[in-house]
Amino acid sequence: MTAQPKISFVSLGCPKALVDSERIITRLRAEGYELVKSHQGADAVIVNTCGFLDSAKAESLSAIGEALAENGKVIVTGCMGAEPEQIRDAFPNVLAITGPQAYESVMGAVHEAVPPAHDPFLDLVPPQGVKLTPRHYAYLKISEGCNNRCTFCIIPKLRGDLVSRPASDVLREAEKLVAAGVKELLVVSQDTSAYGVDIKYATSTWQDREVRARFLDLSRELGTLGAWVRLHYVYPYPHVDEVIGLMADGVVLPYLDIPFQHSSPKVLKAMRRPAATEKTAERIRKWRETCPDLAIRSTFIVGFPGETDEDFEELLDWLRETKLERVGCFKYEPVRGATANDLGLPAVPDEVKQSRWERFMATQQAISAKRLASRVGKRIKVIIDEPGPTVSKGRSQWDAPEIDGNVYVASRRPLRIGDIVSVKVERADAYDLHGVAV
Ligand code: SF4
Repeated sequence: MTAQPKISFVSLGCPKALVDSERIITRLRAEGYELVKSHQGADAVIVNTCGFLDSAKAESLSAIGEALAENGKVIVTGCMGAEPEQIRDAFPNVLAITGPQAYESVMGAVHEAVPPAHDPFLDLVPPQGVKLTPRHYAYLKISEGCNNRCTFCIIPKLRGDLVSRPASDVLREAEKLVAAGVKELLVVSQDTSAYGVDIKYATSTWQDREVRARFLDLSRELGTLGAWVRLHYVYPYPHVDEVIGLMADGVVLPYLDIPFQHSSPKVLKAMRRPAATEKTAERIRKWRETCPDLAIRSTFIVGFPGETDEDFEELLDWLRETKLERVGCFKYEPVRGATANDLGLPAVPDEVKQSRWERFMATQQAISAKRLASRVGKRIKVIIDEPGPTVSKGRSQWDAPEIDGNVYVASRRPLRIGDIVSVKVERADAYDLHGVAV
């Protein structure tokens, strides 16, 4: 038997980049390549980069440098590949540079660097593809690119306009994942609520029915598969209200990941955010009326050019009013190539950004802690991520993997990864819950 060529793979960046990595790895395995953990033993290295923030670019460049030093044959793909000159300047010796979702080009570069073994073991690939994420949850990418033009963001420049997958395509992938043991589907895209706009909400056939490529229809169908369905990167467009009904009915998880970024209409306008004119505090109040169990996770930017003390105070008031469960906050970074740098708005000094960030975090921590404490004494469902001999680590339906908190579950009976168990919550700390399996 011919020895299989070996590839070492570095996957950096967000969940969307992880989905790209999974697709490339599936192709590699399909063609008989073997994946190895160390660069030294590999015939070539693929680095899937992230170029969202300058700090992510620095991390990507250092991963490329490391791969070159340890191996020498390096193929670069991902978001940073959309700006090849930066990589070429630093590392003229990389074999090839391709942009995000350029699966064909990545495979072309691999074939050139390390031709596939003569007899590809096509059956090496399990039918559901290869998952980099643990087997009990999986990211499901429903579209690529974005039609918005937020002024702080270069993703549309890197990834292009919105391209939605047909509903049947997404549902078939989801079905295979669930059949392979996935218990939680994490729906991702740059703008999940815009799903289908580019293909005019086209209908396609799945099982015996016609499904429209609409956010609501897709969510409803995903909810029939028997797995938890979690929606990420949703914007507060009016039609999102309909999905809250599905949450109240238990069809999808009562969890919304909405990157609000700010609350001041003036700042949102300068950011050119989608749905910037919606009265979001009022909408959130109504959502909570429809689905009292709803948890909202969001991210914000402080120190955007032109943000005044009044804008910032308005943001803090908005946080106190809306009482979001989980929140992340970034200090504005002038990403190279972002329109925000050319708006002519005054930059916020670093020390002001820092003090606003600290006040933001302190305000939100108190809110999140109160929200968590309100769960004490309740019975909740928990999915197990890491079983332990006496205490296992899991997540509630209000916690997404990697970004939210955990639930520590004491149990007499052994729990397995992916089990969904009932837990009585006994106490809460700043981020996590603790309880016993019942
Ligand atoms: S919605 Fe805005 S922040 Fe998100 S990817 Fe599109 S342009 Fe970037």
